[in-house]
Amino acid sequence: SMDDIATPRRTKEIIQRHGFSFKKSLGQNFLIDQNILNKIVAAAGLDETKGALEIGPGIGALTEKLARTADRVTAVEIDQRLLPILQEVLEPYSKVHVRHGDVLKLDLQEIFREDFAGLDKVSVVANLPYYVTTPILMRLLEEKLPLENIVVMIQKEVAERMAASPGTKNYGSLSIAVQYYSMPELVCVVPHTVFIPQPNVESAVIRLQVRETPAVQVQDEQHFFEVVQASFAQRRKTISNNLKSRFFTKENKDQLDPLLQQAGIEPSRRGETLSLEEFARLSDVLLAAGI
Ligand code: SAM
Repeated sequence: SMDDIATPRRTKEIIQRHGFSFKKSLGQNFLIDQNILNKIVAAAGLDETKGALEIGPGIGALTEKLARTADRVTAVEIDQRLLPILQEVLEPYSKVHVRHGDVLKLDLQEIFREDFAGLDKVSVVANLPYYVTTPILMRLLEEKLPLENIVVMIQKEVAERMAASPGTKNYGSLSIAVQYYSMPELVCVVPHTVFIPQPNVESAVIRLQVRETPAVQVQDEQHFFEVVQASFAQRRKTISNNLKSRFFTKENKDQLDPLLQQAGIEPSRRGETLSLEEFARLSDVLLAAGI
């Protein structure tokens, strides 16, 4: 409608009247395009029985749309200067709860207990600050919050790495970490013109459908992720050479190739060709051999 926050005219008016200046260090690129906002909200599949957690509401462009769609909305904003603005523009929406803080430091389990009690489906929906995209998403996934999905605007290149399949150039430890906990899907690529100020990188919307149980079962999650990290340490090296540098010495390195074979993996392969299932088998075989 005419009164939507995310029109160029109303956004400029709000910003000027409050004397707000953008902080690049907080990744402040606000959305001013109705179509993109509607696409983001639609991708989350929200309705009046569901909750939404927004990270970084800015001046409320997306928050307002969420409030019109979901049962309850909690928005976490780090920048104190935005609190009076949010209070003003979100005044018509009683179901919105704005919390001040750093999403990387707040107790998210407690926020879920307090704000989303009685709801069995909650989505995270956000236009994320690009400087902390990966830490935020990994925290949301690792905390095993009761989430249905996560729909976020992020840097296009990061979205492509998260959604990449084995054997492609974008596939790496980030793809595996994200796919262990969720099923990623690229929703759309977004032009610079939907933001003020316009970011210097390309953007995309990605949906992570959160899995109820991880994609693969492993004996030890931490060990699994260490094996994955080590396998991608030097992309041009074989899996055998990467694992030898990380876990073996001159004396015992000959033990590795038979263990790789036991896990059904040719030692001459590269990490970027291994599926999650293969990494899971490999981690378990190495662990059983005391490595
Ligand atoms: N949602 C708004 C929109 O789409 O117009 C603003 C998006 S802007 C890309 C990112 C927002 O995240 C900013 O409002 C910024 O202040 C906030 N932010 C940055 N780091 C944060 C953090 N660690 N915790 C919570 N909010 C943060």
